[in-house]
Amino acid sequence: MDLLIGIDLGGTSIKSALIDREGNIILHRERPSGAKISREAIIQNIGEAISELNHALDNQKDKIIGIGIGTPGVIEDNFILGGAENLAGWEGFNLAEALKSYSDLPIYIENDANLMGLGEATFGIARGMTDVIFLTVGTGIGGAMLLNGKLYSGYRNRGSEIGHFPINSEGRMCNCGMRGCLEAHASTTALITDYLELAEKNGIDISAEDINGKYITEKYFSGEPTALEAFNLHFEYLSRGISGLINVFSPQLIVIGGGISEAGSFYIEEIAKRVDRYALKSCSELTKIERATLGNKAGCLGAAALVLSNL
Ligand SMILES: [Zn+2]
Repeated sequence: MDLLIGIDLGGTSIKSALIDREGNIILHRERPSGAKISREAIIQNIGEAISELNHALDNQKDKIIGIGIGTPGVIEDNFILGGAENLAGWEGFNLAEALKSYSDLPIYIENDANLMGLGEATFGIARGMTDVIFLTVGTGIGGAMLLNGKLYSGYRNRGSEIGHFPINSEGRMCNCGMRGCLEAHASTTALITDYLELAEKNGIDISAEDINGKYITEKYFSGEPTALEAFNLHFEYLSRGISGLINVFSPQLIVIGGGISEAGSFYIEEIAKRVDRYALKSCSELTKIERATLGNKAGCLGAAALVLSNL
């Protein structure tokens, strides 16, 4: 059986998996990425993840045909240009070249958010579709666009930064240094910040350490006014951002992933209701909004899909 290695490099861990052509995960492993130590340490950890899966292989009947790797940052032809501040020294080098001593197999590198999109388009909810926009709502907001059946990231892969769509000129400062980006108002981090600000205003005494997306969701279900207000801001900003994307691209499907999207069916329903209000009818009438289906395996599956799309 032909197998693929899919690797998802993050700020905390490296997820790695052996995956067949149909997207079934045969083996899954996780190890620390060593992101804060040095570029060499991260490369070594990826290399060892590759070797580990290679050794686990049953050479009698299985053959690995390629390796895909998703990493934060801007990537052009396997070259890491930069933009991955949470990984030490992660700019100005060819990652596939750096891993040559660990494997003779073809290695393909792509931005991790793009690969989550490619994973959903190849093995998940967007399978068989040609025009899809993906958003991952978490600490930040990551995005990917599939247009005419192909990942689209602009000229020489510099774009698709959906999280840094400026949405509020008077808004909150964003990690990128600009003000009022979608990510600064509609990420899970922003939801928590909104909740804390509103709680203070409403005279609720809570400690910031106790607050996360799950806590606010529970309060939302119990009808707590502060949680309702915080979620209202979240839905308003996210829906307006999504409506803008629909007006430009008119995709078949918008896919929303990330932990908060799993809060319950109300999440997608609230967004769909508001998008119906804010997007142009002619642009949105064929667009559906759905939750991502691959969960925390999306990165590895997307990396495997990258190999398939290159073979
Ligand atoms: Zn930004």
